[in-house]
Amino acid sequence: MSHPRHRLFTPAEIAAVTAGRWLRSSPRLAEPIAGIGIDSRTLAPGEAYVAIVGERFDGHDFVSAAAGAGAALALVERAPAQAPASLPLLQVGSCVAALQALAAAWRERLHAGGCRVVGICGSNGKTTTRHLIHQLLHAGGLAGSQSPKSFNNHLGVPLTLLTARPEHAYLLCEIGTNHPGEIAALGAIVRPDIAVLTSLGEEHLEFFGDLQGVAREEAALIECVAPGGTALVPAEGRLPVALPLSAPSAVTLRRFDLDPLAQALPLPGEHNRLNASAAAAVARLFGIHDVCIAAAIRSASHAPLRGEVLFADDPARPTVINDAYNANPSSMRAALAMLAAHPGRRVAVLADMLELGEGAAQAHREIADLACATADLCLFVGPLFAEALAQPGAGIGGGADRFEIHSVWSDAVAVAICRRLLAGDTVLLKGSRSMALERLLPVLEWAS
Ligand code: ATP
Repeated sequence: MSHPRHRLFTPAEIAAVTAGRWLRSSPRLAEPIAGIGIDSRTLAPGEAYVAIVGERFDGHDFVSAAAGAGAALALVERAPAQAPASLPLLQVGSCVAALQALAAAWRERLHAGGCRVVGICGSNGKTTTRHLIHQLLHAGGLAGSQSPKSFNNHLGVPLTLLTARPEHAYLLCEIGTNHPGEIAALGAIVRPDIAVLTSLGEEHLEFFGDLQGVAREEAALIECVAPGGTALVPAEGRLPVALPLSAPSAVTLRRFDLDPLAQALPLPGEHNRLNASAAAAVARLFGIHDVCIAAAIRSASHAPLRGEVLFADDPARPTVINDAYNANPSSMRAALAMLAAHPGRRVAVLADMLELGEGAAQAHREIADLACATADLCLFVGPLFAEALAQPGAGIGGGADRFEIHSVWSDAVAVAICRRLLAGDTVLLKGSRSMALERLLPVLEWAS
């Protein structure tokens, strides 16, 4: 299906919204641009390029490349060293702030056009829930857009908003956080018509301190819901701590719990059925009928590397639950509960959980203990598991033949792990993103 060209702001509007100053004005001030990008390699002709100054790269070094890609103009903080004379240049105080201001202004256009914005936050389950909502709304005949990949930070959220179209029925926008205050800041830009809080767990505790800190941070999205909107949060018994709830008076607060329709979800784990329950609640707010929701849930697919079941029909190989996208203690617990529900010999291949701060050693010991209580064989990978389990008194349950520790990843380790797996096993793969446990899959395919 071909889409009509995206028509975003005109250069004149961009200058007004960002309070920018033309270093070199645009000859087409009143012609809408085709989009906004921050990467010269993926910029499409007719889009505006925003020169973000990052930790590793300075976007000002790529202004010429952006011009080569057909940029309609560039937003810059200073005159770039190199830029063709034909490229209009708009100088702003901060390119990040300009991008966010443009996103907030575009949000108003979406609202005026009737596009409803769904903001999805929570410690775990944002991408899966977004992916499920999209499938349910699509099955209901609605057109919309969603965050690309896991675009959920100070750049990804504005870029997501800026790709949405007012004529669409919906935009699904993930909102993530690493530091206190980020949800409130991004929520103020997104101003969701519907907010979904998927779960609370131990995420980025080096910055949030404890679960109460996480709850305070995630609950901030509810205060950003637009008047007349709805906030969906898990039923009380589903959360490890109480949510500090203070929804604005014109906002409806609803709790969701396991929905009977979610029982038919073909993804493993109760946590995924809860994500599907949240998705069903959102679909109902869009007026989609339960018959349609039920059919879409029955045929729903997983998001990449999240609860993907591999080789289940191949008697010569173990069944693999590839949940290697990411891990923290609460998502590890959810994944181990998912493994526990499988019959036969259960194997947990678990890699380090990163960004846990001071509690890292303790968290790795606890998860190792739980894994040994859940699985028949545990294979731990990474220096954090190795250090935590080497400490005196670590004493994880089970005999020494029931677990193995590999402090660093190597091809030889991958082969050694695969040699321990048997046809008929159910094998869970889970670890933080940078551990990339999916590297095991080609070895497994080759070895079996
Ligand atoms: P990130 O912020 O790392 O991108 P996310 O919030 O988008 O993560 P997903 O990518 O959907 O979450 O899922 C990551 C992992 O979290 C899954 O592989 C699964 O193990 C676990 N998970 C998913 N949903 C839940 C849930 N509702 N409760 C607890 N754990 C969950």
